[in-house]
Amino acid sequence: MAEAEIGVIGLGVMGANLALNIADNGYHVAVYNRTVSRTEAFAASAGELSDRVTACATLEQFVAAIRPPRPVIIMVKAGEPVDQQIAALKPLMQANDIIIDAGNANFRDTMRRFSDLEGSGLTFIGMGVSGGEEGARHGPSIMVGGAEEAWRRVEPVLTAISAKYQGEPCAAWLGENGAGHFVKTIHNGIEYADMQMIAEVYGVMRDHLMMDAPSMAAVFSAWSTGPLDSYLIDITAEVLRVHDAATGLPIVDIIVDAAGQKGTGRWSVIESQMMGVPATAIEAAVAARSLSAMRDQRSRAEKRFGLPRQQERRDGQEAVNDLENALLAGKIAAYAQGFAVMAAASEEFGWNLPMQTIARIWRAGCIIRSRFLGEIATAFAKDPEVPNLTLTPAFSTMIEQTDASLRRIVAEAALNGMPIPALGSALGYFDTYRRARGTANLIQAQRDFFGAHGFERIDGNGAHHGPWGG
Ligand code: NDP
Repeated sequence: MAEAEIGVIGLGVMGANLALNIADNGYHVAVYNRTVSRTEAFAASAGELSDRVTACATLEQFVAAIRPPRPVIIMVKAGEPVDQQIAALKPLMQANDIIIDAGNANFRDTMRRFSDLEGSGLTFIGMGVSGGEEGARHGPSIMVGGAEEAWRRVEPVLTAISAKYQGEPCAAWLGENGAGHFVKTIHNGIEYADMQMIAEVYGVMRDHLMMDAPSMAAVFSAWSTGPLDSYLIDITAEVLRVHDAATGLPIVDIIVDAAGQKGTGRWSVIESQMMGVPATAIEAAVAARSLSAMRDQRSRAEKRFGLPRQQERRDGQEAVNDLENALLAGKIAAYAQGFAVMAAASEEFGWNLPMQTIARIWRAGCIIRSRFLGEIATAFAKDPEVPNLTLTPAFSTMIEQTDASLRRIVAEAALNGMPIPALGSALGYFDTYRRARGTANLIQAQRDFFGAHGFERIDGNGAHHGPWGG
């Protein structure tokens, strides 16, 4: 009997937890996974939620178990597996059924899948989900793209399973076709920058201020009661407190310093470059992960060059206070960049992305959740058309209060050979953005010199060529 109200395909980390979350919220859910043993293990572990779970061994049984019109969430590895799942589902489904891809899809793939399904009678939703395993189980942030009418049909279940910020669901429809997956991509790009800047600050504390892990944990804990209050700062403090059972050492000290990446950071950078909107802090973070993976080369280079001699250290507390402000200033630049990229994409793809709503649904459930996002939501509510977050009254004041610290930290790090590429690029971005008369006049002259590209005069007197070469 078809009694399930919704289906979930893919019972990996995210799919399994999302399915339990759905059942926990009173919905009957059908589940299916390519490898049947995983479906069986899931069914066996559903405990008291088993009554609301129908575990299916085949896709045919799965589709038959859901009441039409069927919403089906696909939560499998992004890329080709999603296309394979859609192809397998398509002949089994009926008009008005909704296929929801909830993985980390590239929004360009989502747009293609939309057009592929056009005219089939099936509806497609591209949905970004953030919050990791814990979020999927107890309330993620959900970013939806697709037809608004389709969203209305699944809104009750998606808002029910989403995180709540002071009772407000962190799930929203953000625009047509690829809007949800684009916003999720930029969320992850910002997450890369946030994590990298935290790691840079940790590096300065560890290698310049010579602090041990428990002392750093105490600093991050203290910061989590101030303007940096966020999930990432909280987990950083927690990570730094954990010791390895085998060696007794802080666990961070035995973890290999090579970061993984799956693509969303890189996609953020590619899209920002394609639109000509700089996202330098995100770029630096992606590049830093790539450099982190070059462990052999880095060892070779250290053998060849050694490390720069450390200058005299400042008073520890004073330096730590500067690091807190520097991190806040860097964070402002990274978020300003991320939101500017979304504004450009909104224009280019006709999405009409609601910036205030995006900030609101990131306040809980997702990895970058923070007090800061509440302030961003308020700033956009007051000035929805502002071209850059740094120009809102609240954030310009915040920058004025913190940029001197960022400047000191960047200068000090440079003198001591501490790599802080994301914080450094945030400062470079801000200093370039705030200066009305830049240096591209010289670049225009050079371009005209070698390529006769012409230039505009500051007196507005039309296009010109220079009198080069006499
Ligand atoms: P897992 O690695 O835990 O699980 C992968 C799932 O994909 C399994 O169910 C697997 O099935 C299935 N799968 C892989 N290849 C195929 C295929 N060719 N056909 C059918 N099914 C296939 O992944 P996650 O749950 O972590 O991630 C799922 C999606 O969610 C990804 O897009 C990921 O980027 C995204 N995501 C992950 C987050 C996280 O924190 N982990 C956070 C937010 C989004 P099988 O058991 O048969 O191998």
